[in-house]
Amino acid sequence: MSEGRVRGVAILGSTGSIGTTALRVLARHRDRFRAAALTAFNNADLLREQVAEFRPAFAGLVKEGARTNRSDDCSSWSMGPQCLVEAAKRDDVDIVINAVVGAAGLDATLAALSRGKRVALANKETLVMGGPLVNAACAEGRGEIIPVDSEHSAILQCITGRPGIEVRRVIITASGGPFRQWTRDQLERATLEDALQHPTWRMGRKITVDSATLANKALEVIEAHFLFGLPYDKIEVVVHPQSIVHSFVEFVDGSVLAQVGVPSMELPVLYALTHPERVSDSGVPQFDPVAASPLTFEPLDAERFPAFALGVAAGRKGGAAPAIFNAANEAAVALFLDGRISFRDIGPTISGALDVLGSMPGGSRDELVAADAAARRNVQARFGC
Ligand code: NAD
Ligand code: MG
Repeated sequence: MSEGRVRGVAILGSTGSIGTTALRVLARHRDRFRAAALTAFNNADLLREQVAEFRPAFAGLVKEGARTNRSDDCSSWSMGPQCLVEAAKRDDVDIVINAVVGAAGLDATLAALSRGKRVALANKETLVMGGPLVNAACAEGRGEIIPVDSEHSAILQCITGRPGIEVRRVIITASGGPFRQWTRDQLERATLEDALQHPTWRMGRKITVDSATLANKALEVIEAHFLFGLPYDKIEVVVHPQSIVHSFVEFVDGSVLAQVGVPSMELPVLYALTHPERVSDSGVPQFDPVAASPLTFEPLDAERFPAFALGVAAGRKGGAAPAIFNAANEAAVALFLDGRISFRDIGPTISGALDVLGSMPGGSRDELVAADAAARRNVQARFGC
């Protein structure tokens, strides 16, 4: 990155877990970055507080009905779902941190990339839904996608400076989630409260449930495929309950590098802004290998967590299948979070949608949006919603 100039940053989803972390990172690096645009879904109160503190030129609220006293600190407010794309396209924005949850982030990612911006991507659903489309927009617009997801940030940090041809394999680590040691019988009775108890990370509710079903790891395998251009055979997953090793990269000479540290999203967010540079003051506690010991690894049990294998198979199949996997998962998790279905319903619900719709075409944005909508309808019909 060029030195000197303060870069304008848009944070889409500034009120969420990654969004608030990103604002902490910006506050610590005001000499390098300034919040130029902030958007939220419906948390108008928190957005207003953020606007008063960070004084972005643009603020957007998706849910028009959510009333807010518009702050005088901000020059322009936009209400409605178009605010994401508006924020992503702005001339005073160099970097878009996409921290929205779900497929709703797709158009903003495409808009930013086609204008040559850097997208610091937390919103992995965007790449899962439309990987080829996103990569094409990136190439045509000369944009850049830098992952915020800790595993993918780890992989990027290990491979930066090396040509892709030298990479033999990546191994993505997974905490295993709250149900790592639960038997099949126990999983039958898992409640929402149980699913929201993630052992090592504090995150938004949707990704926390995805971590309990291991759908999140399937999303991350697909994300790695599109980010690093790796065939699925070169992407493996290992369970690592301590979440200290954020992922491994094996090179063709057999050397294996890993990126290691206490679980914190501040470093991957900061690195996504500064890559390939490293800057001091990431806010991350100093690593203590003795305190972190012991580090353990075990295989992922795909039989107890069917969403994982469903997702990887959808990724391998390509076309609209990953978008259908993603949308069916989003819809099923939303029903689970609402208390309308049980934990054990999530896997069969995704599988049902893929069985019926998995061969839909997915070559264009419109086809992907249609597949996404069909998957959501399929899930709702299954439960009579
Ligand atoms: P969150 O639920 O805490 O926050 C989501 C944000 O997106 C909020 O600001 C919300 O207002 C906004 N939002 C929600 N629905 C929206 C919509 N339809 N349109 C526009 N904005 C909307 O979620 P999170 O944990 O911060 O996760 C955000 C993304 O980052 C997800 O894709 C997740 O998988 C990814 N991610 C999160 C973490 C983490 O530690 N939280 C780690 C890795 C990746
Ligand atoms: Mg992750």
